[in-house]
Amino acid sequence: MNPQQNNNLHIPKITKDILKKYNFSLSKGLGQNFLIDGSVVEGICLSAEINQDDYILEIGPGIGTLTQQLCSQAKKVVAIEIDRSLEIIHRETLPYDNLKIIYADFLKTDLHRLFEDEFDGHKVKVIANLPYYITTPIIMKLLEEKLPVASLTVMVQKEVAERFTSPPGSKIYGAISAVIQYYAKPSLSFIVPAEVFIPVPKVDSAVIVMKIYDEPPVYVKDEKLFFDVIKGAFGQRRKTIVNSISGTIPGIDKGLLKETLEKLGYDPSIRGERLGISDFAVISNHLLD
Ligand code: SAM
Repeated sequence: MNPQQNNNLHIPKITKDILKKYNFSLSKGLGQNFLIDGSVVEGICLSAEINQDDYILEIGPGIGTLTQQLCSQAKKVVAIEIDRSLEIIHRETLPYDNLKIIYADFLKTDLHRLFEDEFDGHKVKVIANLPYYITTPIIMKLLEEKLPVASLTVMVQKEVAERFTSPPGSKIYGAISAVIQYYAKPSLSFIVPAEVFIPVPKVDSAVIVMKIYDEPPVYVKDEKLFFDVIKGAFGQRRKTIVNSISGTIPGIDKGLLKETLEKLGYDPSIRGERLGISDFAVISNHLLD
C-alpha cells in the first residue's frame, strides 16, 4: 500500500468509519480523544519543525492520525501506545516502514534502553497529543531522565499550557512552571478548540513547544535542594517564602533561611510566585554555603 494514499485519518468520516469497522469503543479512562482536523495535525508538525532527518518519539498514537503525518515527514518514528486493542487498527492505518509501535505504558517504559535500541544516539523530538490524565508525569519523566531529547511538542489542556509557559509574577505561575523553565524554553504555539476531537472534551487544548536546553540556563549546586526550595516556595501559597519553605523542607533552619534571603537582597515576606529560576538557584546555592 502506498502510505501517502493512507494519510487520511484527519478526515472525520474516515476516522468514524474506522472506529465503526473495528467496533472500537473509546476509553475515557485512557484519555482517548482522537484528532479529526488536518490543520491541527499539520500545525503540530510545523510547530515541531519536523524534517526528513528527524527521529520522533510519539506517545499515545491512538488510531494513528498524527502518526501518519509524522511517518511521512520524518526519518523514523517510534510510538508508544498503552492500548493493545488498537493493534488491529494500526495494521490498516499505519503501514509505514519507518514506524515502530511499542504497546506499553509510557510511564513504565525504560526510556534510556528504548533510546539506545531505537535511536542510536540521535537527538529525538517528542511529539504527542497527550492523554490528559497523566500530562505532568509524562512531561516530568521526559525532562528528569535527561535523555537526548531536542524538544517536546505536546498538546495539553489549555489551562495547563498557560501554566507551563507562564513567567514569574503571573497569577498562574507555579512550581511546575519554574521546574519546566529550568529544563526547557517553553512557548505556547496555538490554541485548539474542543470540537476537533472525537469525543469532544469539556475543555479547549493548546500545543506547546519545549526546547530542551543542553545545559540548564542557571548554575545549580544541588539539584535536589533547588527543586525542594521551588516546591517549598509554592507549597503553601498564602504563606511567605520563609514560612513556606521551612514548613516544607525538613530540617531547614528558619533563621538561616531568613538571613540568607536578606543577605541576597530579598524581602523575606516575598511570595514564591515572584521568583524565577535564577532566584531559586541563588537562594538554594547560598543555603549550602
Ligand atoms: N494521537 C492520537 C490523536 O491525536 O488522535 C490519540 C491521542 S489521545 C488524546 C491519547 C492516547 O494516549 C490514546 O491513544 C491512549 O490510549 C494513549 N495512552 C493513554 N495512557 C497512556 C500511557 N500510559 N502510555 C501510552 N499511551 C497512553
